[in-house]
Amino acid sequence: MSNPQANTPAIVILGMGALATARRVQALYPGAQVHGLEGRVEADILYSDFGGHLRELYQRDTPIIALCAAGIIIRTLAPLLAAKNTEPPVLAVAEDGSVVVPLLGGLGGVNMLAREIAAALEVVPAITTSGELRFGTCVLNPPTGYVLADIEQGKRFVSNLLGGQSVRIEGAAPWLDQARLPLAADAALSIRITHDAREANGDELLIHPRTVVAVIDEPVAELAANVQQALAEANIAAHALVCLVASSQQMANPVLQQAALTLGVPLRFIAADNTWALAQQAIAEPQALHTAHGVTLAVASEPLDHRQIGQARGRLTVVGLGPGAAEFMVPAAKLALQQAEDVLGYETYVKMAGPFRPEQVLHCSDNREELQRARHAFELASSGRSVVVVSSGDPGVFAMAAAVLEALEASSDPLWHAVDLQIFPGVSAALATAARAGAPLGHDFCIMSLSDNLKPWDIIELRLEHAAAADLALAFYNPISRARPWQLGRALEIVAGHRSGDTIVVLGRDIGRPGETLTLTTLAELRPEQVDMRTMVIIGSSTTRRFARQDGGAWVYTPRSYP
Ligand code: SAH
Repeated sequence: MSNPQANTPAIVILGMGALATARRVQALYPGAQVHGLEGRVEADILYSDFGGHLRELYQRDTPIIALCAAGIIIRTLAPLLAAKNTEPPVLAVAEDGSVVVPLLGGLGGVNMLAREIAAALEVVPAITTSGELRFGTCVLNPPTGYVLADIEQGKRFVSNLLGGQSVRIEGAAPWLDQARLPLAADAALSIRITHDAREANGDELLIHPRTVVAVIDEPVAELAANVQQALAEANIAAHALVCLVASSQQMANPVLQQAALTLGVPLRFIAADNTWALAQQAIAEPQALHTAHGVTLAVASEPLDHRQIGQARGRLTVVGLGPGAAEFMVPAAKLALQQAEDVLGYETYVKMAGPFRPEQVLHCSDNREELQRARHAFELASSGRSVVVVSSGDPGVFAMAAAVLEALEASSDPLWHAVDLQIFPGVSAALATAARAGAPLGHDFCIMSLSDNLKPWDIIELRLEHAAAADLALAFYNPISRARPWQLGRALEIVAGHRSGDTIVVLGRDIGRPGETLTLTTLAELRPEQVDMRTMVIIGSSTTRRFARQDGGAWVYTPRSYP
């Protein structure tokens, strides 16, 4: 499915010398960011490993404009080249802006980018593609809204054209008006623009305009096959299909999702409940309608942009950022953040989740406004947007996932319930702190929040009594705050009623964040003043032990077996 960010190029530089040129290129592409080597340049996005970063961009189909030697780029991407049949444009631009060299992605429009950049830098692009040189355009790279039927056949067609034959155009190809093609009304070669399903004959370049939507009357299990059959019977090329359209009431129907995935087209929803109304709203004046197999194909006179048709099924992903450092965030959460149109969360965490592109909308709120934030997230997602709500650590541990579900359960809005809701886990503070210390949670343990904001203190005391009596290792979240100054002291008293004074205690503060500290102490020595709201308190069980590390510290662990 199309990715709205896929076409924003990344401008990659290695040193300060390239920054000025990079900024000039950046000005051409709204939303583009300059990626710079950490420690060497001040850029919008910092990377530490040039090769890894470039390969990641390439694999994500991000157009790459690298301001460095072409050779470096080629060597870096070489291992990936054979495996790709579609690739993003990749260009080398000289640091001083004196040369623009399109390297890869001929069909992805690399020469167009090269021309644009070269024009802005007032130089000549190093274009080597013969068809482009001759005709001033790549006829094999039609603009958005049109698809080439067969690339191999197309290449043969272009070599005939380069051989000096003339050509005629059948159908509407407004973008070719600018091209320097050898046109002749009686030419043997033709460029044919049609939604008809047909084999291109040897003398023909066949291009399909994306003008057809499939309105789904009845989502049945074999839907994808039904759409294909309806297209075949109406003699419409599969490439001409823009999207599937269904009633908003069907938004969460998995059959529709599956069919869209199988057909490789987006799925759009319109608030109407009969085929005619759906078709009318999808295409203002359909040229033709074909109904068969529970599918109505509606054909427009001009190529359609699926984003203009109804809305997508909105997505709401609740992600855990991990304790702080980006390398401890799960890849699925990173991807969701990259794809998000809206990001919501407590300001500190939203900042931690960046960097973001300028078009991504950040909604920062106060830490206490969880339910309101959850409702806002559903409002956005139910309108078709891709929304991410962030929590630190794990979103299901004293964080946003439960608030989001609470808001959803309380809502009777079917559009909220139709949102594609997912929750991606993260490394919770207790686990991150435990890992720094060793393995204090290596045996049974109990996680508690000491905050009595959302539960009565009596319950906390009762649970502490039982957990301490059961000899569980204990991990305390929200151990203390200015509004809750005495609770931690009381909690420690309860635990001390069941555990000896030399029980090992681990304090992790700002784990994974700048200024992180890890303190080992004992239950007898621990003072509430050592703890603040950015601290995780882990109290060992009776079996938790420690031993010296060579660097002067100590490893703490709770053995897997019980004595
Ligand atoms: N969802 C979060 C917890 C939120 S409750 C998670 O899974 O980690 C907030 C409490 O978590 C803080 O009061 C503190 O006790 C703990 N905490 C969160 N991040 C921390 C970090 N980086 N280092 C130490 N403790 C942290």
